[in-house]
Amino acid sequence: MTNKAGKKRGRQRHVPQRTCIVCRTTSDKRSLTRLVRTPDDGVQVDPSGKLNGRGAYLCDQPACWDQALASDVLAKALRTTLTEADQDRVRAAHPGRPVSET
Ligand SMILES: [Zn+2]
Repeated sequence: MTNKAGKKRGRQRHVPQRTCIVCRTTSDKRSLTRLVRTPDDGVQVDPSGKLNGRGAYLCDQPACWDQALASDVLAKALRTTLTEADQDRVRAAHPGRPVSET
């Protein structure tokens, strides 16, 4: 648990910042993974950031991925309902082994 990220929002910097949809950590886009709801192929993990569609970002903390898979936060961010196949693709991109909670 880090509380390092200040609440204050400064001027927008030139570096594109992205926000993890779970923990709301803001970071430059390289440390976040983009997930895209594509028009034809459902939700895809998009490391290259090139796919068209509505995107959402997850940081590299496994807990955030766990949360994204366990709740509807991702579905809400992408304004869609994740199918089993969508969830499988997200799960496949999970950055760590699932953390056992507490
Ligand atoms: Zn996060």
